[in-house]
Amino acid sequence: MLAGHAMSPLGLRRLALPSALLSLLVAVGCGGDSSGGTAAPTRFRFPGNDPDGTRFVRDVVFHVDDDGKPADGLISQIFCTNFEGKGFPQCYGDHDGSDFLLVGGFPAMDAGSTEVLAAADGVVEVAEDGHYDHCHISLAALDSGGISCDGNPIVPNKVYIRHRDGIVSHYLHLMKDSIVVSEGQKVGCGQKLGMVGSSGRSSTPHVHFEVHAADEALIDPFAGPYSQPESYWVEQVGPFGLPAPTCQ
Ligand SMILES: [Zn+2]
Repeated sequence: MLAGHAMSPLGLRRLALPSALLSLLVAVGCGGDSSGGTAAPTRFRFPGNDPDGTRFVRDVVFHVDDDGKPADGLISQIFCTNFEGKGFPQCYGDHDGSDFLLVGGFPAMDAGSTEVLAAADGVVEVAEDGHYDHCHISLAALDSGGISCDGNPIVPNKVYIRHRDGIVSHYLHLMKDSIVVSEGQKVGCGQKLGMVGSSGRSSTPHVHFEVHAADEALIDPFAGPYSQPESYWVEQVGPFGLPAPTCQ
């Protein structure tokens, strides 16, 4: 083993560093934070601005479908299992994110009431804007999954943020021309990204929040018997059952 390292000057230098110095370097960190160092996994705050606790629906959140079975067609969308084993309407088939619905629907959205916020510190990887934002349910649009964007392409306005441990968070369906961050920009937890909208495959104004691991595997941020034992929220059960607006 030592012979192997001796083949590489870099390996030798690594071996030669006293462990105390290594610990110091880790503690000071390269882009790490003062609370947990670089090793602390990313944990998220609630991705909406809800200072008075009245802006998002509390009793129904469309969660990630954790049943592992593909949904095929409109009817099978109701077959799903969320993190705690509940079915529709606490999830729907093949859903990859958590949907937080805006109270008051389109009138509230048009009043420009509610901001979408970065759920943790990171760097903006995708910021895409300019798409129609009043998409809605339409029984006449069965061939596009029951969603109509009134003749416009079904494309969401969206932001993706990469966090320090490689985890990526997605924020979908934002209001047209509301996104205030750009690709490559550093953002802090709680910073405004844009406004809640209904662009893309969206039946009503809401935030679709989705999490992927560094290897792109989908993560359900809610802990439970059908997801994983540890929550990716700073506080999973906040007031009225939504994750807390507390930054890491
Ligand atoms: Zn969604």
